[in-house]
Amino acid sequence: MRELGVVSQFPDLSWRWYNDIPVLKGFYQFKTEYRGILFQDSFNLEINFPVDYPEKSPTVKELDNKIPAFFHRNSDGYLCLCTPVEQHLTFSQAPTLENFMLNLLNPYLLSWLWYDRFNKTPWGERKHGYIGLVESYQDLLKLNDIRHTISFMVEFVKNKLHHKENCPCGSGRLFRKCHGNIVLKYENSLPQGQLFYDFIFILGGLNEKYFN
Ligand SMILES: [Zn+2]
Ligand SMILES: [Zn+2]
Repeated sequence: MRELGVVSQFPDLSWRWYNDIPVLKGFYQFKTEYRGILFQDSFNLEINFPVDYPEKSPTVKELDNKIPAFFHRNSDGYLCLCTPVEQHLTFSQAPTLENFMLNLLNPYLLSWLWYDRFNKTPWGERKHGYIGLVESYQDLLKLNDIRHTISFMVEFVKNKLHHKENCPCGSGRLFRKCHGNIVLKYENSLPQGQLFYDFIFILGGLNEKYFN
């Protein structure tokens, strides 16, 4: 198993088994240089592997409350590395523990350490809740307007994206010649139901904001 090679670089991490499911636990020694500044710290982590790993990304808990709840840490202790859709797309590009560490966990830890030192994040961050989720779809679809993003999702969920009809982005071009390729790309790489689940979450957020 190639994950073993990566783990050997972290002598303070070890495998545990809970009901036949592997968990990686221990101190994650993190060291990186960013914009000429050295960041180094150690985090007590629990990296969990879903049953359908590596189709789905690992998730991670920080066990010592070193990272405070206000900084992208969910109430159950899991770190909010990014939105689920972004996490999936990043992880699925190379579904390995190494990719997870390099492109999801490490940027998160760096952004926390940067925030801790400078009281701001080194790059943009997603808002929590449905707005952050809408923003991530907006970026994926390269759209500027939240309404277009939502109408896109509506058409997608209704299974009404037709190649010979106008694109829901409002460009006036045929879907095929406009957002067709982008949608096709994500349609094939997102897990079944992810977009639907996200859409329901967004609707719930909008409902709470505007109708309660
Ligand atoms: Zn977050
Ligand atoms: Zn379009």
